Amino acid sequence: METINTTLLIIGGGPGGYVAGIRAGQLNVPTVLVEGASPGGTCLNIGCIPSKALIHAAEEFCKARSYAAETSPLGITSSEPRIDLERTVAWKDGIVKKLTGGVGALLKKNGVKLVNGWATILDGKTVEVRQEGELEASVRIRCEHMLLAAGSLPVELPFMPFGGPVISSTEALSPDAVPQRLVVVGAGYIGLELGTAYRKLGSQVTVVEAADRILPAYDADLVKPVAAALGRLGVELRLGTSVLGMDGNNVRVRDASGVEALLEADRVLVAVGRKPRTTGWGLENLMLDMIGPAIKVDDQCRTSMRNVWAIGDLAGEPMLAHRAMAQGEMVAEIVSGKRRHFAPAAIPAVCFTDPEIVVVGMSPMEADKAGVEIVTANFPFSANGRAMTIESTDGFVRVVARKSDHRIIGWQAVGGAVSELAAGFTQSIELGAQLEDIAGTIHAHPTLGEAVQEAALRALGHALHI
Ligand code: FAD
Ligand code: NAD
Repeated sequence: METINTTLLIIGGGPGGYVAGIRAGQLNVPTVLVEGASPGGTCLNIGCIPSKALIHAAEEFCKARSYAAETSPLGITSSEPRIDLERTVAWKDGIVKKLTGGVGALLKKNGVKLVNGWATILDGKTVEVRQEGELEASVRIRCEHMLLAAGSLPVELPFMPFGGPVISSTEALSPDAVPQRLVVVGAGYIGLELGTAYRKLGSQVTVVEAADRILPAYDADLVKPVAAALGRLGVELRLGTSVLGMDGNNVRVRDASGVEALLEADRVLVAVGRKPRTTGWGLENLMLDMIGPAIKVDDQCRTSMRNVWAIGDLAGEPMLAHRAMAQGEMVAEIVSGKRRHFAPAAIPAVCFTDPEIVVVGMSPMEADKAGVEIVTANFPFSANGRAMTIESTDGFVRVVARKSDHRIIGWQAVGGAVSELAAGFTQSIELGAQLEDIAGTIHAHPTLGEAVQEAALRALGHALHI
């Protein structure tokens, strides 16, 4: 068996692990990264990127169909559009290949040794690596620092295991046909992003959600425009409803009043959350402290064992790629000898529904709960010229600031293309901006950003365009 000695060993090449690798390489820390599947992890291969590609393709197809139906207010008409799903999926796979190839090249450029295979932990300083399809390990790696970045897996419902018509997001991202009837279980991020895309591709979509509203993690005002748009698209929502299991190809459900129904389905997308990948690779051998299903870490991503670190989805919520990347970069710097802590002022979250939702920092309700006295204001996109020109006037931008000194502590927005506002929102909070800073910044016209400035002006009592 080949033996490799290194300073930093990273297990998992997702956004957390590969960014840690790149930064460690830049800092001349001898680094080995073990990845069992493809570099880029969930995010690049079966998550963020392919889902956004499918969402875009579905949106284009849906638009083309509205032109054919002569319902476009823009006066555009066209003949009946068709979609060649094989080409759509090939296009999506091309983007994935380009990005994952890029990750491999960046690791190489920075001197990181990439070992393809599945790592099994023997102790806090040693792993063995088995190639896919092999029974025996062929490489043993010994390290000074072990960074655990094995990510997460979709939660399976025990009475509706994945297989046959019951699929996870992974299968939903590589369809060979558009199912006529799709039942989506879970109205969270994945259920609504992909449920909307499938509806736009032509499926009849029914979303079954246990809570009494969609996107229960977001505040009700933000979700309203999304719920209205789903209604216009013809997505059926069954809220406060539990799934009981499969009955042939039908999904048996029970609503809040105890009434049972069967929903016909060609495919059932189960999207009820993801769980840290903590079993099956010897992690138990380390007996690390856990917090719920995740590995417990401190503000430097140290676990309860010396020189063993954990980042990303494996270290719990929020399970977002940009948080994993930020933690990975930080751990690499600490291992290289720098002093760092993970203390972001805010981590943005974006839901790529139609319209999109962005939240950064505190909502008015969260500020209330924390006992912070606030000033808050909304600016609606119905009063923004740019929003009108891109046919997306539903929604608003909301700012939340401390009453005492006007320091901004939260932004929320819902509307078309608002994901692109996330950077400015997060920067303003990270830089400690006050309402006056945003109100006094010249925002380009005509842009959605003007609604950001106007929300700040409105919180100060003198919005200009409303
Ligand atoms: P992962 O990306 O899961 O990577 C872990 C890697 O470790 C995997 O490649 C795995 O093969 C490897 N691995 C595991 N065990 C071993 C082992 N024993 N040996 C070797 N390798 C191993 N987040 C966003 O911020 N924005 C989005 O728009 C977004 N969209 C998403 C859409 C979908 C459909 C899904 C499923 C997720 C989405 N996410 C999104 C979440 C995002 O993908 C994750 O938060 C992110 O990938 C976590 O990064 P990570 O590095 O912690 O783990
Ligand atoms: P989620 O936590 O976003 O949503 C799960 C939903 O399923 C919830 O609304 C929950 O109430 C519901 N649910 C749970 N059990 C149920 C049951 N038995 N029957 C009916 N409904 C049930 O989870 P997800 O959509 O699977 O996404 C997983 C994670 O992936 C997210 O939490 C997020 O961290 C990440 N993600 C992020 C993005 C993004 O950033 N845009 C996109 C996709 C995924």
